[in-house]
Amino acid sequence: MTIDFKEGLRRYAALAIEIGVGLRPGQRLMITDPRRAGIPLEIAPFVRQLVAQAYQAGARLVDVIWRDDEIQRTRFLHAPRDSFEEWPEWQAKGLLDHFEQGGALISVLAANPDLLNDQDPGLVTTVQKTAWAQYLPTSEYTSRDRVNWLVISASYPGWAVKVFPDLPPAQAEAELWQALFRVCRVDRPDPIAAWKDHIRQLVGRSDYLNHKQYRHLRYTGPGTQLTVGLPSGHCWKAARSKTPSGIEFTANVPTEEVFTLPSAAEVDGEVTATRPLNYGDALIDGFHVRFQEGRAVEASAKRGEAVLRKMLETDDGARRLGEVALVPHSSAISQSGLMFYNTLLDENCASHLAFGRAYKFSLQGGEKMSDEEFQAAGGNHSLIHVDFMVGAGEIDIDGIKADGKAEPVMRQGEWAFDV
Ligand code: ZN
Ligand code: ZN
Repeated sequence: MTIDFKEGLRRYAALAIEIGVGLRPGQRLMITDPRRAGIPLEIAPFVRQLVAQAYQAGARLVDVIWRDDEIQRTRFLHAPRDSFEEWPEWQAKGLLDHFEQGGALISVLAANPDLLNDQDPGLVTTVQKTAWAQYLPTSEYTSRDRVNWLVISASYPGWAVKVFPDLPPAQAEAELWQALFRVCRVDRPDPIAAWKDHIRQLVGRSDYLNHKQYRHLRYTGPGTQLTVGLPSGHCWKAARSKTPSGIEFTANVPTEEVFTLPSAAEVDGEVTATRPLNYGDALIDGFHVRFQEGRAVEASAKRGEAVLRKMLETDDGARRLGEVALVPHSSAISQSGLMFYNTLLDENCASHLAFGRAYKFSLQGGEKMSDEEFQAAGGNHSLIHVDFMVGAGEIDIDGIKADGKAEPVMRQGEWAFDV
């Protein structure tokens, strides 16, 4: 089923403002993609809808930061090779200032996953590392839920032709919008009510897992035999977050995951990614990683292996895991059968793990801990946080209790318990 494009955009924007960022009257809103230094001009029709709905919800000021991918590419072609640690610092400072004043953030992901495929992987990862470092102070706000924020995607020509390679560009772009509307439930008669119901179900799953307090998770599947420790006090989270001032929001649209943090030193075994990963607009595909006492000690990939290796070398924490997320194989995104080449979407199609930083809110009392205290409690610290998919219809996951007893959590990629 397709939905009228204009009506779809309007509903998608309404979902972003009401359920997503949960904008409050009187708040300021910034719309950008911080780590890409802006959002592309091509998505202006959607952004105008977002801005209109934000003001209707009572926003005081909506600030939009734009970029152009042609210009991003031009930098890689012509800028001095030693200049890739340069960054428009004002953007990161501006966002920090915005957060300090209680402003909300919508990050819109619209990027061409092949934009930099033919560029030097060293420069690609340098730019990524620089971006992560620039936004470290602001990520303290988002990773602790001190402000309300949202990440959402928009169809974009260079991206759409990758998802629909057989269609002409304009048709691919329209088709990608329809796919986003479907996986975000925008095609339902009442999307907001559908989301409230979806959120209730996800929260029920996280409550169940929090009650269980498993000591380990054990993954079994093709190319995957992995045991992941869970630190004491780990909190499973899903769909709903709350700022200290009481604003409820859903940081990712869509979201299908229930997630927590692993114990950074207790990951052992091997894992095979079941989907490609878009890192810094370069693609890593068919990769396999072996962990020992929490560290990735071996990593190989059929494509993009150099980028994968560089990514793992970002810092000490980049080799360790910071997130464990469970997503049923029957999720709308998985059932769409599409490969989105966009982590926000692809991570919600399958159970996943993340290299790098753990979210402090996934540990009891974590928001109040210093980095050292958090690490001592099992949390991982890194500049990066990069999700990769390990779930598919073939993965089984068991929860292992403190006494060694195993209980089924997922079977053949589906939830193995009722709530
Ligand atoms: Zn996740
Ligand atoms: Zn993640």
